[in-house]
Amino acid sequence: MATRANARSFPAALPRQPDAAPAVEVSGLSKTYASGVEAVRGIDFRVAPGEVFGLLGPNGAGKSTTIGMLTTAILPTRGTARLVGFDVVEQPLRARGVSSVVFQEAVVDRGLTGRANLELHGHLWGVSASGLASRIAQLAGALGIAELLDRTVDGYSGGQRRRLEIARALVSEPRVLFLDEPTVGLDPRIRVELLDAIAGLRERVEMTIVLTTHYLDEAERLCDRVAIVHLGEIVALDTPRALLSGLGEEVLALRVHGDTAVALAALGAHGISAAEALVVGQTLTVPLHDSSPADAIAAIDRAGLAASAISTRAPTLDDVYLRLTGAELAAA
Ligand code: ADP
Repeated sequence: MATRANARSFPAALPRQPDAAPAVEVSGLSKTYASGVEAVRGIDFRVAPGEVFGLLGPNGAGKSTTIGMLTTAILPTRGTARLVGFDVVEQPLRARGVSSVVFQEAVVDRGLTGRANLELHGHLWGVSASGLASRIAQLAGALGIAELLDRTVDGYSGGQRRRLEIARALVSEPRVLFLDEPTVGLDPRIRVELLDAIAGLRERVEMTIVLTTHYLDEAERLCDRVAIVHLGEIVALDTPRALLSGLGEEVLALRVHGDTAVALAALGAHGISAAEALVVGQTLTVPLHDSSPADAIAAIDRAGLAASAISTRAPTLDDVYLRLTGAELAAA
C-alpha cells in the first residue's frame, strides 16, 4: 500500500470542514449471519470529517458487526458503506487504505519493542523511511508512551499496550480511525488515562474517529454525536447533550413498596408526567422538569405507598437508553 498522496503533516490539525463530504457514510447497512441472526438491521448514519462518533449499546447490539463491515472484515448482507467516498464492498483496498482499526484483542507483537512494532507496521503500510521515525516520535508523544518505546511490549501494562495499539493504527495516517471498545478490560484508573489520551489525540490530529462502547460515560466524554444501538437498529442519534435534554435537569429515583402503577397514577394526578417515568422492577426514575422532589414524594405518600432509596441526580445516557428501549444499558 502506497503512502497517501495527500498525507498531512502531523500533528498539526487542519481546520474542521463541516460542509465537506462525509468521512463515513452508511446507508441501509444490514448483516444477517448464516445462523440467521440479524445482527444489523438497516442502519443509516453519516460522520463528518474530524468528528468523533460513538456507537453505544449493550453486548449483542450489533456494534462489532457494524465495525466489521466498515473495516471490510465482514461482508454486508444489504446496504452500502463508504469511507471518504470509497465503497467498502466495491473498493475494499481503497477503503482500508484510508482507515485503521484498533480491535479489542491486542495485535502488537509482545516479544518486540514498542518501536519495532510501530516500524514494522509502518513498513507494511509503505510509510516512507524518512517520515517514519518522526511520525513514531510524534505519536508516542501524543499518546504518552515515548519513554516506553524501547522496551519490549511484554513489560507494558494493559493501558500502555492499548496506547501502543492506537499508535500502531495511526502510523499510516488514517483519515478514519475505528476503535472497538477501546477501554474494555482496563481497570478504572487506566481507563481514565486512556480516555484522556484519546481526547488529547483528538486535539492534535485532524481525524475522524468512530468508536463503539457500552460505557455511557465514555460516549458522553469523547463523542460529538452518539448513535444508540439496540437489537441491530439505531434507536436515537444526536449529540449527548441533545439526547439528555429531553429529560430535563434532574431526575428522581426511588423504590416504591407496593404497586408501581398506583405510584405512577399518583404522580400523574399531581402533574408529574407519568408517561416519562421509567419503571424497572420496583424502582421508578422520574424526570422532574418543573416539579420538586418533595412534590413527587408527597404524591406517592398520599397514595398510601412507602418509598425508599430516594435520590435525585442529573439524567444520564442510561436514562435515555432505558426510555428508548425499556432495557437498562448497564445491566444489559
Ligand atoms: P456487539 O458488538 O454490540 O456486542 P455483535 O455485533 O458482536 O454485537 O453481535 C450482534 C449479534 O450478532 C449478537 O446476537 C451476536 O451473537 C451475533 N453474532 C456476532 N458475530 C456472529 C457470527 N460470526 N456468527 C453468528 N452470529 C454472530
